[in-house]
Amino acid sequence: MIGLISATAAGAAARDRLAAAWPDRTRVYGGPVKDAVRAAFAECEQLVCFLATGAVVRLIAPLLGDKTADPGVVCVDEGGRFAVSLAGGHGGGANELAAEVGELLGATPVVTTATDAVDLPGLDTLGLPVEGAVAAVSRALLDGEPVALAAEVSWPLPPLPVAAEGAYTIRVTDRDVAPGPREVVVRPPTLVVGVGASRGAPVEEVLELIADALRDAGLSAASVAELATVDAKSGEPGIVAAAARLGVPLVTCSAEELARVDVPNPSAAPLAAVGTPSVAEAAALLRSGELLVPKRKSAARPAMVTCAVARRPARGRLAVVGLGPGARDLLTPRAAAELRRASVLVGLDQYVDQIRDLLRPGTRILESGLGAEEERARTAVAEARAGHAVALIGSGDAGVYAMASPALAEASDDIDVVGVPGVTAALAAGAVLGAPLGHDHVSISLSDLHTPWEVIERRVRAAAAADLVVTFYNPRSRGRDWQLPKALAILAEHREPGTPVGVVRNASRADESSRLTTLGALDPAWVDMMTVVTVGNTATREIAGRMVTPRGYRWQDTRQEETR
Ligand code: SAH
Repeated sequence: MIGLISATAAGAAARDRLAAAWPDRTRVYGGPVKDAVRAAFAECEQLVCFLATGAVVRLIAPLLGDKTADPGVVCVDEGGRFAVSLAGGHGGGANELAAEVGELLGATPVVTTATDAVDLPGLDTLGLPVEGAVAAVSRALLDGEPVALAAEVSWPLPPLPVAAEGAYTIRVTDRDVAPGPREVVVRPPTLVVGVGASRGAPVEEVLELIADALRDAGLSAASVAELATVDAKSGEPGIVAAAARLGVPLVTCSAEELARVDVPNPSAAPLAAVGTPSVAEAAALLRSGELLVPKRKSAARPAMVTCAVARRPARGRLAVVGLGPGARDLLTPRAAAELRRASVLVGLDQYVDQIRDLLRPGTRILESGLGAEEERARTAVAEARAGHAVALIGSGDAGVYAMASPALAEASDDIDVVGVPGVTAALAAGAVLGAPLGHDHVSISLSDLHTPWEVIERRVRAAAAADLVVTFYNPRSRGRDWQLPKALAILAEHREPGTPVGVVRNASRADESSRLTTLGALDPAWVDMMTVVTVGNTATREIAGRMVTPRGYRWQDTRQEETR
């Protein structure tokens, strides 16, 4: 619950807007502000105070305890211009709340926690359990002191500016180790606990067996990702309650699936009861990879529960990110977020330069020159398969004559793939020219590097005959100069010499240029590899210096009738 406190009329108006927008998340605290703040601080996870920061600092000072438990506090000024994350930025979620409140009220969020200010992910915002010297290690990262990353298991973490050795350590492990004084232990969710139980097995027996198994194997309960069992036990109360107490999902598998898993300790009892010679071991293995704890039984007599523990390999993440045509404000917020999330960035050197300032410190950059597409694709996939969070970048849309297809042709189903669309050159150029793509259109690349010219020519002929607006990508380079005139000549067999043609070079970049000409007048010398050429269909017109393709032929007919 978010407690809302205000003192003035303007504050109350902003407060009411918030309360109306989030009726289920907020509660208004009225009366004297001192009492209101005290009550809200005790009862809510978060506070939004429509008061000066000074006033709020004085009011909450006597109430503050521990940053892991205190509510997050956001202040909004009288003018509604700023939403200040005042306390509990990470643990209390005040940074995120400030951003949300800012969005809703049109206020600028103000965040001063150091890790966010210099763009490091807070160690407590990795989305994983952390233990140990979080504040000290965060400070060391900020101060540029060497912090070593000791990853005993790989996991797709965001970038961290770590060194090979250091006085401070970030340890990524699922083993039950106590953090040293200058160490943070990060717990990735790597462990799958397979569980079998007789009907009516008590939850205590399930939990005790799991705890014993983990302890004896030196594994941390904080790394348990899920409990797994057979379908027939999906409603077994002891197992369901154990998953709930551990705060992990319960997943179930069919007896047939489980029966197919090769296990070290099959037995006759479950085969008779549920139709598979193993539940615990088979379920643990089916959901993961490496068996760490073979089947063991609970201590109670008769034993009603079995469990086994396995470790699943990290699932890497490959984001295929389109950067847009060049201008920073045509790069989508989602693309920017993916770039900041990745610890490994793969791309053509000139595209890396386009976004280098957006990357977080510690991002491993694997850049290469023109022509190394296949190798870049392989590298990106290999890094993701090694368990990293990878961003593979391309200009425009990464799926249009770009990296997405070679990468996904390489990728297997053991990684997660996320695509982020970008503004492709045809659209960027279209917006510069006017509305050339208002009706059916096609993009054709004139590069015969990957495609035989006969195929390209056949497609140009088809587009010409079908009266499609055509945007040519890769239209002309120094060594490739006859293809564009040839393609235009094919279109000219079906279109008047006066058909509008737009030539846009470096759309949305600092040195953008464009011209509107005609099929008969286009000089190929204007065109290079930084250019797209858009040829209108038979209905496309130049209107007030802009290229316009009517939305329908019916519209065009009436217009012609009117002018007739
Ligand atoms: N993935 C890119 C296209 C890569 S093919 C996209 O979706 O835009 C490379 C060709 O795209 C270039 O030869 C040029 O024809 C075109 N191109 C890319 N960016 C451009 C821009 N900003 N302005 C004009 N043409 C561009």
